[in-house]
Amino acid sequence: MSGPTDRPALVLVAPDRFAIELRPLVEPAAGEVAVDVGWVGLCGTDLHIVEGSHPRASFPLVLGHELVGRVRTGPSSDRPVVVDPLIACGRCAACALGARHVCANLRLIGIDRDGGLGGRVVVDPERLHTVPDGLDPVMAALAEPLAVAVHATRRAAVGRDDRVVVMGAGPIGLLLALAARRAGAATILIGEPAPARRAIAAAVGFETLDIEDPVTDLARRTDGWLADVAFDAAAVPAVAALLPRLVRPAGRIGLVGTYGRPVELDLQAVLFRELTIVGNRVYEPADIDAALAILADDPTAFRPLITEVVTIDGAPAAFDRLRAGDGVKFLVSTGAF
Ligand SMILES: [Zn+2]
Ligand SMILES: [Zn+2]
Repeated sequence: MSGPTDRPALVLVAPDRFAIELRPLVEPAAGEVAVDVGWVGLCGTDLHIVEGSHPRASFPLVLGHELVGRVRTGPSSDRPVVVDPLIACGRCAACALGARHVCANLRLIGIDRDGGLGGRVVVDPERLHTVPDGLDPVMAALAEPLAVAVHATRRAAVGRDDRVVVMGAGPIGLLLALAARRAGAATILIGEPAPARRAIAAAVGFETLDIEDPVTDLARRTDGWLADVAFDAAAVPAVAALLPRLVRPAGRIGLVGTYGRPVELDLQAVLFRELTIVGNRVYEPADIDAALAILADDPTAFRPLITEVVTIDGAPAAFDRLRAGDGVKFLVSTGAF
């Protein structure tokens, strides 16, 4: 039986099997606020969960961790917000150090508990980031993945005049390239083998490296200098093997893509050339605010990344397209706005 407050949720009942179920409206507990979700971004992590290859996710699960919504309870009701989906334990060494984003027991809304494709989440109000005035809230759905890129470019100290290489032209790779451009990088080159993704990189305004021999091509294009910073947003062993050869001596390597298992990396090259390797898991709260400010300042630069906005019914097909490498970022509109 369904009540007047039930709303449709896209439930992943088993790997590759979705169902739309009516779920009762979740009410916030003491100290929490309810957020009605307007848009949800789909990403590679969601795809891993759909395929049943994510180490933590269990079924049934409502996906959705890239969230824009409207606060429905509490004092600042109705304001559009981005929800920080990270849930830290508050008890481990990382939490004690104030690095909750690398909490030893890190959990996420939409991965470890039901997420945005249920139409509503309840969260600690500290997890909310107000969408700036003037920014179309649909664009704010990019804030969570852009925060990953902002975090990584900040930690790799990308600055004026830097030559930057980004390996991988998926959503995170393209967002890294845009964040590096924003940080003042003089040259940004993308390494990507898939023709469709190379075309998107070009549409967003970036040149791609010759994928047969990216190191030689990079040397040619930088007068032998190579990159000051190389980002790995591909997370495949062939790229890991290349990383130390893409950067100049004393250069920086930012790891952003998630490897499913240990891979080979030439530590002798790292040592002899005194390279700095920086791991990047997710983002800190300030990175989300920085991402929102960047989106508000220049939304048109990010528009080409949004392939399509679909309804909840259309989300399973969007996952199929994502898996086929057809497009960059699909957003699901819940119709709540
Ligand atoms: Zn994501
Ligand atoms: Zn913790």
